[in-house]
Amino acid sequence: MGSCIIVGGGIAGLFASILASEKFDSVTLIEGSEKCGGLLKSWKNKQQISFDFGTHILSETANDEMNAILFKGIYEHPELWNSFDVTKVSNSFSGKIYDEAQFIALHHLTEVDYKLALSELLLAPGRSLDEAKNLYEYAVDNYGPIITNKIFRPLFQKMQQAELEELHPNVHIIFAFNRFILSDTTLSKALKKIDKFDSKLAFSSYYDGLSGAKKFYPKERGIELWVEHLCEQAKEKGVEIRLNTQVAKINSDNNHVTQVVLSNGEELNCSQLIWTIPAIFAIRAAGVDYKSSVKPEFCPMSLHHLVFDSPFLDKNYYSNINEFDCDGFRITLYPNILDKKKSNLHHCTVEVLHSELSGNALSAKLADELKALGYVEKNAQLVQSDEIKVPMGFPKFTNEFVNEKVRQVDLLNDSFKNMTLLGKASKTEFFVYGILQETFDAIKKLAHYE
Ligand SMILES: Cc1cc2nc3c(=O)[nH]c(=O)nc-3n(C[C@H](O)[C@H](O)[C@H](O)COP(=O)(O)OP(=O)(O)OC[C@H]3O[C@@H](n4cnc5c(N)ncnc54)[C@H](O)[C@@H]3O)c2cc1C
Repeated sequence: MGSCIIVGGGIAGLFASILASEKFDSVTLIEGSEKCGGLLKSWKNKQQISFDFGTHILSETANDEMNAILFKGIYEHPELWNSFDVTKVSNSFSGKIYDEAQFIALHHLTEVDYKLALSELLLAPGRSLDEAKNLYEYAVDNYGPIITNKIFRPLFQKMQQAELEELHPNVHIIFAFNRFILSDTTLSKALKKIDKFDSKLAFSSYYDGLSGAKKFYPKERGIELWVEHLCEQAKEKGVEIRLNTQVAKINSDNNHVTQVVLSNGEELNCSQLIWTIPAIFAIRAAGVDYKSSVKPEFCPMSLHHLVFDSPFLDKNYYSNINEFDCDGFRITLYPNILDKKKSNLHHCTVEVLHSELSGNALSAKLADELKALGYVEKNAQLVQSDEIKVPMGFPKFTNEFVNEKVRQVDLLNDSFKNMTLLGKASKTEFFVYGILQETFDAIKKLAHYE
């Protein structure tokens, strides 16, 4: 069925290339950098210790066909992978770590606020995402004023440098602020049987409500091992991977993309174009008439890869730092997910979305925060720190940003009948599993892939 060109060799592009290879005569994957993987690449410090860009613990999906492709390398090489039944996550809020769930424990509020927050949450009138103009409207009608003003507002000021009134109503889901834990686990379990409370309350432990899906992380190194498995599979399926090149121009005829011209001048004919990098680059390469009304803003994100001289006190795989006055927002604790027999390192990655500081000064502040919160022993020494800046990592999910993204994708869909926009060009998805499901559904539909 002709030739398929896929732009962007992140997880979306790689998965798309394997799926597309079942249907198209030829599939070419165009990756701008020297390696595939995008945000799933790993990074090594000068002692050759591996770190990831954020937390990436894999989980089987509910779809066997997707699992067979995504985890083929893992099923074939179990000796290289740790496998878990539970993703162990903690979170800290109000200066205390809740060590069996990623969601905020409401009872970490003061007793007065907790009682008020609970009654407001139970009595909240409710409002759908479509009916809410912004996150404030959604939050106050679904969770009540205490949670909105004492949790959502300061946390979003920290995470997004924005007020709730500017943000898109569903952005709280991205940060796992959609559910809360109650001190009374029996009450919580009973309430979770009622739909309108189930979506707002979390199980008090990650051992409750398990799906049976296996979770994976490499025994050694980092998540890039998964990318290597997928690249191998793509090559076995005949996908041609072109590295260090970009699409300079998109040629079309009668609302169909016919050819892409690469940055080295090479022309590749194509019957289907799959675009997984931001839609604006396709608009520019195709010369589509478009005026942007908004400039997307990104959080000035940085990752701090830290090595301590003593073990972590939290035994979870990662933890969300929901503290208003801390710069870190998540910590990945590698010793807890790597093979203990093969690693005696005490290394972690702390993600920061915004800080007045940078470099060593910020790493030192983060180390102090981790000690104060109880992730690291008080007398532990920070023996190595590296900062990686990710300037375009996390967007500010304002209404304008989300609406503009939709406008760009709609414009391209109207302009070209054979262009599919996925991954970074997705209208709605941001996280890996949303992206993978959307990619699977789109290519299956596109190519009548049965
Ligand atoms: C710090 C951070 C933490 C995250 N944590 C999580 C998490 O905990 N859980 C989760 O599910 N998701 C997380 N995400 C989101 C997740 O990483 C992304 O959803 C996912 O990796 C996106 O995959 P992608 O293929 O769409 O894009 P990317 O991974 O960005 O890949 C795009 C690829 O396209 C290439 N490219 C770019 N421009 C061009 C060009 N002009 N021509 C050719 N190639 C080009 C890039 O080099 C890259 O390889 C996180 C994101 C960030 C930034």
